[in-house]
Amino acid sequence: MTPRRLTSPDRVVFEDAGITKGDVAAYYALVARWMLPGVVGRPLSLLRCPDGAGASCFFQKHHADSLGAGVHSITLDEVSGTGEYLYIDNADGLLDLVQLNTLEFHPWGARTSDVEHPDRLVFDLDPDEGIAWSELKSAARDIRDRLAALKLRSWVRLSGGKGLHVVVPVRPKADWAQAKAFCEDFAGQLVTESPKRYVATASKAKREGRIFIDWLRNTRGATSVASWSLRARAGVPVCMPLSWDELAQVRKPGAYDLRKAAKRAESLKQDPWDGFSRVRQTVPSS
Ligand code: ATP
Ligand code: MN
Repeated sequence: MTPRRLTSPDRVVFEDAGITKGDVAAYYALVARWMLPGVVGRPLSLLRCPDGAGASCFFQKHHADSLGAGVHSITLDEVSGTGEYLYIDNADGLLDLVQLNTLEFHPWGARTSDVEHPDRLVFDLDPDEGIAWSELKSAARDIRDRLAALKLRSWVRLSGGKGLHVVVPVRPKADWAQAKAFCEDFAGQLVTESPKRYVATASKAKREGRIFIDWLRNTRGATSVASWSLRARAGVPVCMPLSWDELAQVRKPGAYDLRKAAKRAESLKQDPWDGFSRVRQTVPSS
C-alpha cells in the first residue's frame, strides 16, 4: 500500500479517549482487511467530523474531486435528476477519506455494478429504554430463526450504538421494491405475532418498552453503518460483526471500542461472518 498523506496526525479527535487522527488512520489501516469486503464497490455515505467526534459532524453522500485520488464517482438517478455518488475500491480510498476526517462509513445495500438490486438486507433492532440487553440479544436470535425458517441465513453485528443489526446477504435478483416489500411483511409479521415485544413503525410513542425493527433501511439510497466502522460517539465504539456464538458472550452494546476492535482485528484467524459472501440465497417473493 502506498502511504497516504495524513495531515495533523496529532490532532485529538476523540477527546475523552485521547484518540488522535493518526490513531484513527492506524485503526482503519489495521482493520481494512476485515472491513473492506463490506465497503468497496458500494455507494458510500460518510460522517465527517473536521473538529473531532464531539463537534459539528456532517453526513456526505455526494462525490467531490477534493476527496482524493482513491475515491471514485458514480452517477446515480435521484428523485429528480442524477447525483454523483462516491465509492472506494481499496485501503487507499479508505485512508483518503480518513484524511478528510471521515469517522463513520455507511454503505448502501447494493453494489455500484448493480445499484438497482440489493445484495444485503439489514434489520436494525433499536431497543427502547428499559429493554434489557439480554432481551435484545434474544430478539436478534428470534429474528435469525424466523429468517432461517424462510431459508435465509443471517449474520449479526453490534451497531456501535445501542442496538444490533441482523444482516441477510442476498443474490442481487430482487429489485428494491421487492426487497422492501419482503422486509415490511417480515417486520409486520413479527409485530403481529409479538406485539408487546416488537414495533415496526417509527412513531416514538408506540415504541415504549418495545424493540423497533427498522426495516426501512432496505430502500434504495438508504445506508447502514459498515462493520468495523468507528462511531463518532463517546467512548469510540465500533460497529462489530460477531458470530452468533460470540453474541451470547457479549455483555453490553458498546462492548468494542477502537482499542478492543484493533486487538480483535490483529488476532482474528477467520472472519466472524465466515460464509456471508458465499451463501446463495434470494429475497423470497412476498
Ligand atoms: P443505533 O444502534 O444507535 O441505532 P445505528 O447505526 O443503528 O445505531 P444511527 O446511527 O442512528 O443507527 O443511524 C440511522 C440511519 O441513518 C443509518 O441507516 C445511517 O446510515 C443513517 N444516517 C446516520 N446519520 C445520518 C445523517 N446525518 N443523514 C442521513 N442518514 C444518516
Ligand atoms: Mn439502530
